[in-house]
Amino acid sequence: MNIYEETKFIIKKYGINANKSLGQNFLIDEEVVYKIVENANISEDDLVIEIGPGLGTLTNELLKKAKKVIVVELDERMIKILQDRFSLFNNIEIINQDILKVDLNEIIRKERKQTGIKNAKIVANLPYYITTPIIMKLLEEKGDFESITVMIQKEVADRLCETPGGKLSGAITYTVAYYAEAKEILKVPHTSFMPAPEVDSEVINLKIRKEPPVKVKDEEKLFEIIKYAFMQRRKTLINALSQCELFNNKEHIREILNELDISEKIRGEALSLEDFANIVNYI
Ligand code: SAM
Repeated sequence: MNIYEETKFIIKKYGINANKSLGQNFLIDEEVVYKIVENANISEDDLVIEIGPGLGTLTNELLKKAKKVIVVELDERMIKILQDRFSLFNNIEIINQDILKVDLNEIIRKERKQTGIKNAKIVANLPYYITTPIIMKLLEEKGDFESITVMIQKEVADRLCETPGGKLSGAITYTVAYYAEAKEILKVPHTSFMPAPEVDSEVINLKIRKEPPVKVKDEEKLFEIIKYAFMQRRKTLINALSQCELFNNKEHIREILNELDISEKIRGEALSLEDFANIVNYI
């Protein structure tokens, strides 16, 4: 049975209707599954944490490569399927929880102690309705893992992998660039899923940096300023930042920009990560 037939079989056997509000679009393309696993670069000492395993299509391949696979799935119906499907495997742990509420660092710490895994890696075909909160959680919590290999909506992938200051940049582009090296791996058409979503997708790989690419005195301030700069991205940086409490008034911002040789007319979206870091370090 190929992955398409397998998916149809499981869906019929368990009487599953894909839940749209949980972003359930199941992967049915064999090549894409192999490409995700290949690019996750999993070795036999690795712990893999899979977010949203669904029917277990990706899980099945991950289990062949990793020392242990921990899957976090919100939908109880999928838990029953996963338990049945992988009952003979002793290297899987199934957690029925909302990924946004899971303490990943605690899980990894425990696994390091108990099973002696060397590295942890995140792999997923993410539910699109919460892609950004999941990516932000993974990055901001400074998880003890090496990489994140995920399938996400194509437009979001373009934004995450854009160079800060490039035309597709958003606030999240800077967060990604600060914490990771982002790489686009593979474009995936919507026909590779069942049911097919309206949009195309892309697999990306985020390799977590050991050190951030810019030195900044206060990370919280850095992301606060970037947030304000992008909240009203059509405004000049001076106008956008005048709403931010870290600055006294427009004159204060103008003075900083002049000191740093940044044009007064510039918009936040044109600044590099280093420019933002310089602003933080100056105030
Ligand atoms: N990995 C499967 C595949 O590739 O076919 C399913 C991917 S589907 C795009 C997303 C999965 O994430 C679904 O199984 C859905 O139930 C699950 N999910 C949705 N919200 C979640 C959440 N907050 N926490 C954990 N899993 C979630």
